[in-house]
Amino acid sequence: MTELEQQVDRLYGMIEGAKRIVFFGGAGVSTESGIPDFRSKDGLYNQHDVRFENYTPEYLLSHTCLVREPEVFFEFYRQKMDTRTIEPNITHFFLAELERRKKLTAVVTQNIDGLHQKAGSRTVYEIHGSTQQNYCASCKRNVSPAFIFESEGVPKCPHCGGMIRPDVTLYEEGLPAEAVAGAVDAIRRADCLIVAGTSLHVYPAASFIYEFHGKHRVVLNREDVGIRLDPENDLFIQGDMGEVFRRLQAKAEG
Ligand code: NAD
Repeated sequence: MTELEQQVDRLYGMIEGAKRIVFFGGAGVSTESGIPDFRSKDGLYNQHDVRFENYTPEYLLSHTCLVREPEVFFEFYRQKMDTRTIEPNITHFFLAELERRKKLTAVVTQNIDGLHQKAGSRTVYEIHGSTQQNYCASCKRNVSPAFIFESEGVPKCPHCGGMIRPDVTLYEEGLPAEAVAGAVDAIRRADCLIVAGTSLHVYPAASFIYEFHGKHRVVLNREDVGIRLDPENDLFIQGDMGEVFRRLQAKAEG
């Protein structure tokens, strides 16, 4: 048996023994669907694009950019954040099935792509918001998910003429209070926490995992993200998410 097979066996046992799993995920959950993460070598922060070479990615996704240079913000946003045609992958589907089986109580995601819901997950705390929702910065009315992607220049509210913006948490902005409260509550009540596909570089989101006081902590990532684990109860799997979840799926199917 390879080390990965042994680790997947252990993870499968933890999942089967748990009743209140929370999955805390990041951009690595959606890379297999074709959405680049931020910090990997093929990630958005390492892509060279002449149109935006005078800007840092943090600036292009910041509140300052939205307000000071909205044309630049929306050009970048339309180009990089339109994931409407992208489909969920094995990880999203497996988690939705765990929720149906009443094993998993919540997905807490830093992702803004809406793929967990597309795969059938119901309790999803989107702590950085979602590209699937937009609203008017002036009158606060919601507009359709496609509104920004199907407009040009700075999108304007059909009701009041204010600027339409995505309901995502930009750099310099606070996190959505309701999603954060739900996420923290779910993590505090969990008996197993799976932290997967996140570099844990973005705060305060990354700090939420320290609210967990249950039995098993599992970290799954291609690289070591530096969380101290208890070898007895916890598990670190250094590997590819799709491969791990395909193996779990095969086990579940017997
Ligand atoms: P990150 O880019 O900082 O880190 C991604 C992590 O996932 C890395 O540690 C990488 O090693 C790992 N990873 C990537 N693909 C993997 C795979 N197939 N298997 C295992 N591990 C894999 O992303 P982050 O920590 O989520 O923080 C970045 C911020 O960017 C988040 O706030 C998120 O909102 C946003 N973001 C979202 C999306 C999305 O919605 N799909 C995509 C990119 C960035």
